[in-house]
Amino acid sequence: MGVHLNQQDIRLAIADVSHSVILEKSIEVEPGYSPQCAAAVVRDIVTVAYGVCGLDISALLGVGVSVCGPVSPGGMVQRANGMPTWAGVNISQIFGAVLEKPVFADNESNCSALAEIMWGAAAGYEDFVLLKLDLGVGGAIVRNGKVITGVAGGGGEFGHMSIEPNGGLCRCGNRGCLEVQIGVDRSLQEMSRLYGRIITIYDVSAMASQGDVGARRMIEDMAEQAGRGLALIGTIINPPLVIVSGRMTRAGDMLLKPLVAVYEKHTLMKARDVPSPMRTRVMIGKLAENDAVLGAVGLALRGLAALP
Ligand SMILES: [Zn+2]
Repeated sequence: MGVHLNQQDIRLAIADVSHSVILEKSIEVEPGYSPQCAAAVVRDIVTVAYGVCGLDISALLGVGVSVCGPVSPGGMVQRANGMPTWAGVNISQIFGAVLEKPVFADNESNCSALAEIMWGAAAGYEDFVLLKLDLGVGGAIVRNGKVITGVAGGGGEFGHMSIEPNGGLCRCGNRGCLEVQIGVDRSLQEMSRLYGRIITIYDVSAMASQGDVGARRMIEDMAEQAGRGLALIGTIINPPLVIVSGRMTRAGDMLLKPLVAVYEKHTLMKARDVPSPMRTRVMIGKLAENDAVLGAVGLALRGLAALP
């Protein structure tokens, strides 16, 4: 089973050992909920869901948990960016005590990368980079089929590369992070003020498709900043594949084309300089909406397979 702990909802997916997803569910929760509350909610849902499927809870083998924020290899939330009170909380221990199953926890972007390996656009790739463009900006680095977590769980946190030293203050405590420079949340607030109604992340691509100049400009500006950030990553890693995911990818080529152009402009190894098989492919992920929860399923499947 996979669980994605969002700020305002908990998503859950159950798969069998052949990796087929047999149930997906989403539950709204009060903002600021505790991890203990989340574990109890998940236990109750799973008990009901297994009953509906005619299964006994003993058939549940393990649980993967996707969390907003860096998670150490032991399951501890290191910095609570998305969940302000969760720093130092050990997700694996809390969920393990309530569910009485092996629990494997990781950062949501790392889970997204795992989902793209197992069910999505990275199938067949051993090495790639994922850049997640949503209300926040996340990322993951995959090397030899494994997500690089780093020594403390902070590997691949591209959204918090400080690219403008005097830029706006970020929720991580730094200034001018890529996430701040891209500023999806800020742009949505600006648009909402300008248009006199709430503009959500779901509205922007639809408005842009219909020719709205404000929405198009927002996507172009975002592509510019994201492309520059991605070019830094490309220069360091020179990956064979970049997967762009997150809800902003609903904009499709309106986002991808300018992003790739800016990436090409600023990265070292340009497509024109190398033969086709050595070019970095940049593509939109296949699992933009439910990638984190599917990745949590993958985390459980991989974690269980690695147990002695
Ligand atoms: Zn930051």
